[in-house]
Amino acid sequence: MPLLRFAPSPNGYLHLGHAYSALFTHKMALRENGRWLLRIEDIDPTRCRKEFVTAIFEDLHWLGLEWPHDVLFQSSRFDAYAHALEQLKQQGLIYPCFCTRTQIRNVASSRTDPDGAPLYPGTCTSLSEKEIAQKRACKLPVQWRLDMRKACEKTGPLSFTEMPPLPGARPQVRFANPTRWGDVVLQRKDTPTSYHLAVVVDDAFQNITHVTRGRDLEAATDIHMLLQMLLGLPTPTYTFHRLITDAGNLKLSKSRGSPSLKDLRKAGVSPSDIRTRLGFD
Ligand code: GLU
Repeated sequence: MPLLRFAPSPNGYLHLGHAYSALFTHKMALRENGRWLLRIEDIDPTRCRKEFVTAIFEDLHWLGLEWPHDVLFQSSRFDAYAHALEQLKQQGLIYPCFCTRTQIRNVASSRTDPDGAPLYPGTCTSLSEKEIAQKRACKLPVQWRLDMRKACEKTGPLSFTEMPPLPGARPQVRFANPTRWGDVVLQRKDTPTSYHLAVVVDDAFQNITHVTRGRDLEAATDIHMLLQMLLGLPTPTYTFHRLITDAGNLKLSKSRGSPSLKDLRKAGVSPSDIRTRLGFD
């Protein structure tokens, strides 16, 4: 059976962009005769809060969406991410990195990744066992990075199927280009995984067949494909939907204070107003 998921992070209240993503995925699940699952991506203990989880449930119910009782919380899955990381370690594809953001910024060239962050200059790629042991003995915070060159050599060229958002549109073959991300972090300093690793492990664990996500996550899909190949996991099909923007044509965001669904509800906006505004009726 086709399985799709809406996977918000509870680090703020949902806004119209999330509502669009949830409704889009739900509509696609109906179209495919599939199921719409909810996954809470709460890997970041410093930013995720219980009250935001409660608000996600409230907002989605308010929008008229229902989902199977079992909601997957990524905070209950750290062992699975550790296992995946170990598999990559056994393949010699990850290495510990002790660099701080400032050190990276000071050394990095002007080359940036698709999100605009400086590409990792590779400072820790050639640390000896002794240097690593010394840094660990000093309890320097460590993150683990993927050796992108080795990883890509191992998999060779990668492609995935993109299903365009319009019903009836033909699937397209897309070639992934993960090298543009450089040596991405797979286990962060502040949490024992990363978005990329957790999302790949859980899409496979939940048998997700169609991943639907905003265009802002299109480039990151290249990393996900690569990890799926390295970990021997299936690759779902991908659909990238449009992003909801504000009057200044900027993507809505929690950090820029875009009104939340909760605010809109308080202001008297109805779920059907939201659907109409987002083009769902
Ligand atoms: N948790 C991610 C977000 O809130 C989305 C996950 C995904 O679609 O891969 O942006």
